[in-house]
Amino acid sequence: MGNFPQALLAFIAVLIISCPCALGIATPAALMVGVGKGAEGGILIRGGEILERAEKLSTVIFDKTGTLTRGEPSVTDIVPLAERPKDEILRLAAAVEAGSEHPLGEAIVRAARHQMLDIPKVSNFEAIPGQGIRGEINRDRILLGNRRLFREQGYQINPATEEILTRLESDGKTAMLVGCNGLLMGIVAVADTIKPEAKEAIAALRREKVKVVMLTGDNQRTAEAIARQLGIDKVIAEVLPGDKAQVVKDIQRRGEVVAMVGDGVNDAPALATADIGIAIGSGADVAKETGGIILVKNDVRDVVTSIRLSRATMLKIKQNLFWAFIYNSIGIPIAAFGLLNPIIAAAAMALSSLSVIINSSLLKGFKLSTS
Ligand SMILES: [Mg+2]
Repeated sequence: MGNFPQALLAFIAVLIISCPCALGIATPAALMVGVGKGAEGGILIRGGEILERAEKLSTVIFDKTGTLTRGEPSVTDIVPLAERPKDEILRLAAAVEAGSEHPLGEAIVRAARHQMLDIPKVSNFEAIPGQGIRGEINRDRILLGNRRLFREQGYQINPATEEILTRLESDGKTAMLVGCNGLLMGIVAVADTIKPEAKEAIAALRREKVKVVMLTGDNQRTAEAIARQLGIDKVIAEVLPGDKAQVVKDIQRRGEVVAMVGDGVNDAPALATADIGIAIGSGADVAKETGGIILVKNDVRDVVTSIRLSRATMLKIKQNLFWAFIYNSIGIPIAAFGLLNPIIAAAAMALSSLSVIINSSLLKGFKLSTS
């Protein structure tokens, strides 16, 4: 027979030191800080399991229009052909387009207003559907439109001009000729432009060893032109809105953990299908409702921040589990041999929980910038 009080003390010490209280808070404490840190940076994360999935992410699929690009056309090039200033060409183009409700026309007018050009009044305005527009400014006959319209109106388009038009078009731009009284004045090109921060986001994803795919309903040529500017080499173009979710499924079937980033109504099924749906804050309500992560600042660089934050959070969880276990695994054998005072055991347990809390709160120091 041994010493009963001593055995009782050892028994109590074992009970105390084996309490898994710190274990219970190891995961939620880190997730709470991680989700809070995201919210601080305008990244709304719906629940901790999204962070757990984001850590394993291997492919990010981006919708093009409105996500990587601004989603509305703007003037990208003004090419003078008759040694007249660019402003003059833009002013004439804006004048004939002033009454137009066409998005391309609106882009031209917006560009002219942006440069504070005064837009002259146009008379005898006439739209030629699918080809262009014409009008008169102080008896000068202004024509704006495509090659076919200009040829029909008797304009000469020389090979050098033809070459410029082709180059602009192969860059995915819509090129329009501007003419005045039978003389070609210049070319105005309009295109949906990429968001300035998108390129940086793609490069940062590359550094994180994540594959990037661009998904769009646009034609292959336009899509590739945009992808080239962004440094994306995998493009899936001419996808019908209803097929976007299927594309996500196909990629998942190859064993990839997929995040889908989108803004539109037509992205919602794909956002729901992806392992992680990331919605742009300025996007459609249905996209935001479906997304597991919402980027409030509309900045696609936050996709990278989300991934980095999830990795940092998961690392914290692992560290927390270590801190939660280490006191127990060292303490239990010592206590079993009756070598651990129950008071010290209790202190060790308090310390264990404290370590987990302190370690989790260190995540507050996570840097939200991509660089
Ligand atoms: Mg879109």
